[in-house]
Amino acid sequence: MKKVLLVSCFVAAILSTSAQDSAAIKELPVKEYPVLFQQQAAEYRALCYQAFNIALLRLHEIPRRKFRKQKLAIITDLDETIIDNSYSEAQLLKEGKTFTGQWWKAWTARSAATAVPGAVEFLQAAKQRGATIFYVSNRDTSEVNSTLINLKKLQLPDTDTAHMRFLVNTSSKEPRRQLIAKDYNVIMLLGDNLSDFTSAFEKKNISDRFLETDKAHNDWGKKFIVLPNPVYGEWESAIYDYEKGLTPSQREQKRQAKLKGY
Ligand SMILES: [Mg+2]
Repeated sequence: MKKVLLVSCFVAAILSTSAQDSAAIKELPVKEYPVLFQQQAAEYRALCYQAFNIALLRLHEIPRRKFRKQKLAIITDLDETIIDNSYSEAQLLKEGKTFTGQWWKAWTARSAATAVPGAVEFLQAAKQRGATIFYVSNRDTSEVNSTLINLKKLQLPDTDTAHMRFLVNTSSKEPRRQLIAKDYNVIMLLGDNLSDFTSAFEKKNISDRFLETDKAHNDWGKKFIVLPNPVYGEWESAIYDYEKGLTPSQREQKRQAKLKGY
């Protein structure tokens, strides 16, 4: 009898521990793992180096005489392509808060983003070879000064207002890219979000994003250099079907519906 009691206590303890564990896992903020991946996974760092190593290889494939004869430019995004803002997301998690535009601006005002591994070395090499760097970002124009302070601290090239092409009127980067292409031969684009490369991805659903990615198959790792961003981006908006104002449970439903089991 005593033995049966002991065994049942043991089983109950296991059950209650695993129930507690699964409850805890469910309550974990959705972004905790991706932020940890960005901040703590050496695999993330390796992926960044890989992207910039390929970019450097492509840069060196362009003969020096072409740089002398033409105005060549590289268009790059900033956030999660060249600079790392994961601290803002991590602080949200620590304080149990949700993202707002105000929170973001308070973060960028600190000019405290660090460089994505390999970014500074690559852009410095590109500048040295003769390319002009344009930073096409959807940061607000009110953030230009704090961003420039940040980029200068990191010793990035072409850090002046003429090379900062921030959001004006439209979040689409296409008009800004076209304006640069009027005066320059754009040799390479860098981004973490597929709309950093062409407008073909803008506001597309998941299957169309795949379709467009396949269509551009030969450009990845050539003209288009992609950096990993597991935390946010249009891929995330596509999971929520670009619907804004969803409740946490509606968002969870959308995420569950998109999971492919076997
Ligand atoms: Mg970005």
